Formats: sequence, C-alpha cells, structure tokens
Amino acid sequence: MLKPNHHYAELKSSYLFFNIAQKVKAYSGENPEKHLYRMGIGDVTLPLCGAVVRKLHEAVDDQAKQETFHGYMPETGDPALREAIAAYYQARGVDIPWEEVFVSSGASDELGDILDLFSPESAALIPEPVYPAYVDANVIAGRRIVHLSSGKENGFLAMPDAAPCGADAPGLIYLCSPNNPTGAVYSKEQLAEWVEYANRTGAVILFDAAYEVFVNDPALPHSIFEIEGAKTCAIEICSLSKTAGFTGTRCGYTVIPKQLEREGMNLREMWIRNRTTKTNGVSYIIQKGASAVFTPEGQREIHENLNVYKKNAAVLCDTFDRLGLWYSGGKNSPYIWLECGMPSWDFFDLLLHEAQVIGTPGAGFGACGEGFFRFTSFGTPEDTLEASARMEQLLKKR
Ligand code: PLP
Repeated sequence: MLKPNHHYAELKSSYLFFNIAQKVKAYSGENPEKHLYRMGIGDVTLPLCGAVVRKLHEAVDDQAKQETFHGYMPETGDPALREAIAAYYQARGVDIPWEEVFVSSGASDELGDILDLFSPESAALIPEPVYPAYVDANVIAGRRIVHLSSGKENGFLAMPDAAPCGADAPGLIYLCSPNNPTGAVYSKEQLAEWVEYANRTGAVILFDAAYEVFVNDPALPHSIFEIEGAKTCAIEICSLSKTAGFTGTRCGYTVIPKQLEREGMNLREMWIRNRTTKTNGVSYIIQKGASAVFTPEGQREIHENLNVYKKNAAVLCDTFDRLGLWYSGGKNSPYIWLECGMPSWDFFDLLLHEAQVIGTPGAGFGACGEGFFRFTSFGTPEDTLEASARMEQLLKKR
C-alpha cells in the first residue's frame, strides 16, 4: 500500500499572513473609507525595466519564426546567461567560472530542490528569526533541525561559537545575508568564521543571497565567495526577484564550486545530474529576458528601480532614528526590523487601528522575533512617506 510522506503532518501551519489578512479584512470592513499603508509587502511593486521587457518581446518573436525558434534549453541554463552571471561576479572581484553557475527558476525552487544533494541524516542548522521556507523544506525532507537563535545582543547575526560541535555538528547551515526578516548583514570577518567552522566540521553552507544587490556599504560582502575558503564549503543561491523585479517572471541562479566535495562525491556534478533528471531548464524567453539584467543598460535601469526602494528604506530609517527606536537593517537591506517595545501582534493592532499602517509581526518568524516588527521598503514612495509620518505622529506620543 502506498505510504505518503508523513513528514507533511509535522509542518506547523503558518498563521502569519493568514492572520494579517483576516485582521486587515475586518478593519477594512468596518472602515471602508480608510486607505491602508502596506509596509509589510514582500513583493516588488515596480515593473520590469525597459531593457528586460524589450528582450522578452524579442524572445517571443524568436519563438514565432522557424529560423529563430528554440526548443528545450540546456537544463543547467543557457551558457550565454551563465557567462553573463560569471562576469557579474568577476566585476566585483569574485572569480566564478561560468560552469559553476546554474540558471534556476528562482531561489525558492532551488532552496527546496537542492536538499536532494544531502542525506536526510545530516541535520540542518537554521538561525532564527528565519525565512520560513528553510524550516518547512527540511521538515518535508525529514531532516532534524537545530535552531540557532539570535537577538539584539548580536545584532541578529548568529555566530558559529553558539553552534553545536562534535557528533552534534550540523551537516547543513543556512545563512541569509542581507537577512529576511531582520535586514542584518554579515561582515566579511563574520562570514570567515562561518567558513572556518564549515570547513572544520565538514558542513555545507547554503548561502541565500537573494538581497545582495541592496548592500551599499563597500566593506560588506555580497557573496560568500568573497571569503577565502568558501569554495570548499558553500553553495550560493541567488534570485532576480528583488534585484530586477522578477517575482512574477521567475529566474534566479545558483553557484556550486567545482571544489565542493563531500565523502568523495562532487556536489556540482551531482547537481548537473539532478537538473538533467528533474528539469528541462528555464524557458528560452525568460532566460533571454534575464540576460538583459546583466547588460550595462539593464544594470543602469534596475538600479533606477532599486534606488526607489532604497529611498523608501531611508525614509523609514530616518523616522525611527528621530523616534530614538532600535532597529536592524534598512541601510543595506530592503527590510527594517524594529524593536517595537510590546508584543508584536499588539504593535500590529496599534499601527493598523491608529495609523492605518500594516507591517509584519516578528513573532511570525520564530520565537526570538517576538518584540520586533518587520517593515519592507517595497511600497510606493507616497505610501512610505505618509506611513512614516503617521507612525512618527503616533509613536512620539508614547
Ligand atoms: N530567499 C529569501 C530570503 C526570500 O526572502 C525570498 C523571497 O521573498 C526568496 C528566497 C525567494 O525568492 P524567489 O522569488 O527567487 O523564489
């Protein structure tokens, strides 16, 4: 008789966004005339840039003509796009051969699929507060999870000195920098400690760099491969979702160095085998559109959009600075993680009812998120300005 994967029954229901939607619906029902300022959205709001749109149109036209029609694409990605991504790394001084770059249909897909490379017997170390998909993907795979909490005392940057050693050392380590939800960014020195720990214990770091493009400070790393020794212990997962507005278009990339081996198995070669078995590649049209992101014109245009989000983040940070409130993020990240001085769902209610501002309660990202609140900079500039003014008015009275 067929046995289903019983690990699905171990998944905790995520009430976070459901609860938010319910509360917002109830409030709007009672106050239909009031505009709501959505400062919690995790999706982008600006459209794709012109260079990408033109390439997408061209690619559609290519598919309409016999001479330019493309069928299946290589499962690991179009070599031209892989080369363009490798050049993007090179421009920041990181030497990644194009064969180590894999084109994906987004970071979420990869974060789940990549677990095929590892035995479910190896535990996963997941720093908290956390992007919930890391936990759920490992629960589904039946993997033991070791939670590593972080807090204000370490700037929400968990470090390996608190991670288990010896027989209890985890096999997989999740690092997300800039972090969702805390906006915190690891320094090179801090990442070097993780790289040393992983190389020493034989672990592999899954480095989620979905927000690398928000790093402004030249001293902070965009990639784990800026750290010496990372090529023998890390996989980097990237996305064009927030970088170039691809949340609904779907494209990302993953870097697995040739040197990454465990127990005589080469992880890059295993991933080629995985992709050629389980996918038929990302569509020609999407890859052609994505290639425009890495042209000088595409880079200029995506940064015009990114500057809008960065300015929104600065408006929120300035507001919280004037109020003398503690937060992480905002400077090198689209997320601002505010210490809200009360249970985070109470703060949610307060902002909704008194300022019509919606954010995300930190308690939804793990126990150590309680007392904190996540804002994002993906709203419109008008809403961000007005929401900030309303919060300033409300919170300065308290
Ligand atoms: N990783 C993090 C930390 C995210 O916040 C998100 C999306 O919000 C993703 C990955 C997913 O990115 P993608 O849209 O490429 O699947």
